[in-house]
Amino acid sequence: MHRRDLLVGAAAATVIPGLAAAQTAPAPQFHRMMVGAVPVTILHDGFNTRDVAQNFIPNVTPEQIRAAMQAAGAQGTTIQNPYNLTLVQTRAGLVLIDTGFGQGAPAGLGQHRAAMQAAGIDPARIAIVLLTHFHPDHIGGLIAADGSAGFPNAVVKVPEREWAFWTDAGEESRVAEGRRPNFALVRNRFAPYAEKLERFAPGSEVAPGITAIATMGHSPGHVSFLVADGTAQLLVIGDAITTPALFMANPEWFPIFDMDPAQAVASRKALLERAATERMPVIGYHFPFPATGRVERAGTGYRLVAGNA
Ligand SMILES: [Zn+2]
Repeated sequence: MHRRDLLVGAAAATVIPGLAAAQTAPAPQFHRMMVGAVPVTILHDGFNTRDVAQNFIPNVTPEQIRAAMQAAGAQGTTIQNPYNLTLVQTRAGLVLIDTGFGQGAPAGLGQHRAAMQAAGIDPARIAIVLLTHFHPDHIGGLIAADGSAGFPNAVVKVPEREWAFWTDAGEESRVAEGRRPNFALVRNRFAPYAEKLERFAPGSEVAPGITAIATMGHSPGHVSFLVADGTAQLLVIGDAITTPALFMANPEWFPIFDMDPAQAVASRKALLERAATERMPVIGYHFPFPATGRVERAGTGYRLVAGNA
């Protein structure tokens, strides 16, 4: 038994280290599901790899992380970190939630255009782009390779607090140096949409059947989106919860990318509790493709039960 475990571990280790995966362009991937009568398509932007035991979760030890990964059935602590966009067919046309990396994407990422093409969707048909927050992996795809609007017929709707933060020169001067390029990226990516930008407050209906929910903490204005058709619901989480094996099992752990950890933990717990109580399907931007499932209570935390049902 031990010998078999070792062999499985060795086989897994040969495919995990990012470079091999990054150099071969993966086949474009998309996944369709329904929310009542509303078609939803998940578009895979690709993945990179990360050792989650190193410089990723500052409030726990590497041993705790190793134990959590083992409990989730993972080999070791190096994971594939995926990126997934959500497309919703509404009465007002196609609504895209978050846009992937786009131009200059790191190797292995920036696949969403190919995924869209494989799904038969022309970017010119997107009527509304909704953003959960302004980190590079969510706004990068707003522009096409030539710098023009990547979604030329779309209105772009953004959380008002997110917009206020990332366009504030004072905030830009105060943040850690590593965060500063994100401000320049915001200026660059939103430039083609100056006339077609709308800000919204959490709680408002941002497209037919789609409501924004405040889930701040990962970033100052982060929101999630509730898609509803009759009694059918779907929660598009964004980055309020990332790697399920870590942050569903342990909602009080926080990744280094949570800009206000205390607020992020509170948002995460509220969202998980709601998703579990209402038994609604969820989509996570960084959940393993196809990035959907239901949330169940498990021990002192929660777990993702992957699948469509
Ligand atoms: Zn992200």
